[in-house]
Amino acid sequence: MMKLYGVIGDPIAHSMSPAMHNDAFSRLGIPAYYHPFHVKPNDLKKAVEGMKAIGVEGFNVTIPHKTAIIPLLDELDPLAEAIGAVNTVVRKNDRWIGYNTDGDGFVRGLKETLGRDLHLDHILIIGAGGAARAIYYTLASEHVRLIDIANRTMEKAARLAEQCPFETKTNVLSISEAEQRMGNYSIVIQTTSIGMSPKTDEMPLSLSLLKKGTFVSDIIYNPLETKFLAEAKKQGAITQNGIKMFVYQGVSAFEKWTGVSPDANRMEKIVLEQLGGYHVNR
Ligand code: NAP
Repeated sequence: MMKLYGVIGDPIAHSMSPAMHNDAFSRLGIPAYYHPFHVKPNDLKKAVEGMKAIGVEGFNVTIPHKTAIIPLLDELDPLAEAIGAVNTVVRKNDRWIGYNTDGDGFVRGLKETLGRDLHLDHILIIGAGGAARAIYYTLASEHVRLIDIANRTMEKAARLAEQCPFETKTNVLSISEAEQRMGNYSIVIQTTSIGMSPKTDEMPLSLSLLKKGTFVSDIIYNPLETKFLAEAKKQGAITQNGIKMFVYQGVSAFEKWTGVSPDANRMEKIVLEQLGGYHVNR
């Protein structure tokens, strides 16, 4: 029988996940279908119960439900619990189990591009929102020893560091302190929404002291190259946009649902087609 998967969010019409997952199901000969479900915040509880009742096998969760869904699940993976957000739900023995594959997706994409371990890196994360939290805790859970965080609202960055359940050393920085220390880092990860379309001429901070050869990632993928990434490239950095994070959060979700690894390169191509571009910046 055809298995049913999906994504819930509000809005959901422009989700790229259905094209990515349905292609993978079809290429791998898995009889399954992935559907976008528009679920408003007030309907979340009914939706989660309804999906169990009709036999949905698993689903992704996107804005604005990533945190609100937690009390509606039967079990939570420890990393998702630490992050405080769920983007992937798996049905096991009729129980909903919540995971967070956003941070894992980012770290898998990063490791694939760098082709090495991250233990010895000194990393700067710019931003302290939901995406930063997922990336920071996942990096810390993988034993990265030095991870600094800079954010406009420093208290939010301080809270992130205080609440991190994994051992790592972190300096909480103001934006101007991060600009001054830019030359210290081997990896810089931009996680704020600054530079995202339509405000594409904005940058979260100056990169004038960036070292040549630093790896600079911006998790935004619309536009494919933010002003921040273009500036980093000009300064001699190796750059990567947010496509790989998106693709690998999907790869990790697919693996949890099916036990099979989909073709990440093909998923990336489909996502780029959905965005109307064919060029990955790195
Ligand atoms: P969020 O929780 O709302 O956090 C937003 C972050 O941006 C905070 O650090 C916030 O700083 C900062 N910020 C926003 N406007 C600012 C401004 N005008 N000046 C300075 N700082 C500002 O958002 P999120 O969920 O983490 O998402 C952040 C970005 O990541 C979005 O662009 C999203 O599309 C992207 N994203 C990409 C992927 C992917 O798969 N590639 C996945 C998730 C998210 P304050 O704390 O000071 O407000």
